[in-house]
Amino acid sequence: MTAASDILIEPIPAFNDNYLWWLSNGRSAVIVDPGDAAPVAHRLSQTGLQLTAILVTHHHGDHVGGVEALVRATGAHVFGPAAESIPCVGTRLSGGDRIEVLGHAFDVFDVPGHTSGHIAYYAPSLRALFCGDTLFACGCGRLFEGTAAQMLDSLARLAALPADTRVYCAHEYTLANIRFALAVEPHNTDLQARQRGCEALRATGTPTVPSTIGEERATNPFLRCDVLAVRERAERERPGSGASTIETFATLRAWKNRF
Ligand SMILES: [Zn+2]
Repeated sequence: MTAASDILIEPIPAFNDNYLWWLSNGRSAVIVDPGDAAPVAHRLSQTGLQLTAILVTHHHGDHVGGVEALVRATGAHVFGPAAESIPCVGTRLSGGDRIEVLGHAFDVFDVPGHTSGHIAYYAPSLRALFCGDTLFACGCGRLFEGTAAQMLDSLARLAALPADTRVYCAHEYTLANIRFALAVEPHNTDLQARQRGCEALRATGTPTVPSTIGEERATNPFLRCDVLAVRERAERERPGSGASTIETFATLRAWKNRF
């Protein structure tokens, strides 16, 4: 649970490892990427809040599966990426757009790579980033529709946000991501400490997210493709790839897929 000014931000677990992010201000609520309507409807009836908006980052079923049912039940307004086909979208967004949600401004970034029209939402006044399946805690999304160069560029844009920005990603993948990151950078002491911290959280069933942009810069190998140790490790994995940031990223992403 995170309180930022007047807004409470909480994860609603869904499926095996998804988090639907619930934002509320005591009167109204907003849900990000409702892959399943049932746990959101349950939270609405528990709290008595009105669902006023649904924010969608990309078209995958585990992010949009609950949209239609929630719109039917609540009339909530749906914001989603302009370049993807998503049910019930009332406002189609692309990079550079700014919307207002629960009295706070949310800036929209285009972050292609995982899907070609994927967007992220950043609320400067909340220091909060909702990035779907683009940036994960200590990892990044698979390249289903985009190129390595697109994803690297998308991640660089997110990594440039203030270090104290909280990263509300959509899955609890952190421990597996950290195991991979340690294969890339076994001597990164920040990463070793992050593993101990996250193992302790998971031992009690506590979410490891949100993390912060600062933590990700220090430990997420996909944001560290310009670091010499990471480049050298990529070079050992696929000779020739350590010479460029994009090829280092492509090598790490392909290696992670079979890790
Ligand atoms: Zn996805």
